[in-house]
Amino acid sequence: MSTPETARRGLILINTGPGKGKTTAALGTAMRAHGNGMRVLFLQFLKGSWHYGELDAAQQLGPDFVIKQLGKGFVKVGGAETDPADLKLVEDAWAESAEAILSGDWDLVVLDEINYAIGYKMLDPERVAEVLRQKPEMVHVILTGRNAHPLLVELADTVTEMREVKHAYQKGILAQRGIEF
Ligand code: ATP
Ligand code: MG
Repeated sequence: MSTPETARRGLILINTGPGKGKTTAALGTAMRAHGNGMRVLFLQFLKGSWHYGELDAAQQLGPDFVIKQLGKGFVKVGGAETDPADLKLVEDAWAESAEAILSGDWDLVVLDEINYAIGYKMLDPERVAEVLRQKPEMVHVILTGRNAHPLLVELADTVTEMREVKHAYQKGILAQRGIEF
């Protein structure tokens, strides 16, 4: 039974899986939260080089809907040694994320693509779990990216796995404005 104390609480959500829609679903939730008068901070871990339409949309929404790109849009993977500069970006992004979550200044904090940083072993999932366990009660946090770490899946309240049925890219169709960026 829910009581007034337990009826309202901050949730931890994860959007993961190989299908398209993890970041866009987080943006949709962010829009919903904003419409409820909530303050939204949307932190993008790996992005930085492309210009996404949502950056301009957020600017139009004002200071309570902030999207920040904390990466440079590219991370070397697949055998190549991790570039120390990339590690530093992730470290700084994590410091900013932890501070934002713990500050209670934001009602919703989105950690977009953080699962990739964890998957590439650039960020220890235990550090993320620790901050999530200590987060202010009413703060909502969304984590996105494929291959969510089991520790974080365990901790989360709602986990959604996007399943790929098909993707335009497989037909050789390039990224389309308004859909991919
Ligand atoms: P979106 O930002 O469109 O919601 P996403 O967050 O689910 O996508 P990411 O893993 O962050 O997916 O990848 C981002 C980019 O890769 C997007 O341009 C997206 O369209 C593309 N992408 C996602 N899934 C696939 C797929 N299964 N095949 C090819 N490209 C994909
Ligand atoms: Mg994404």
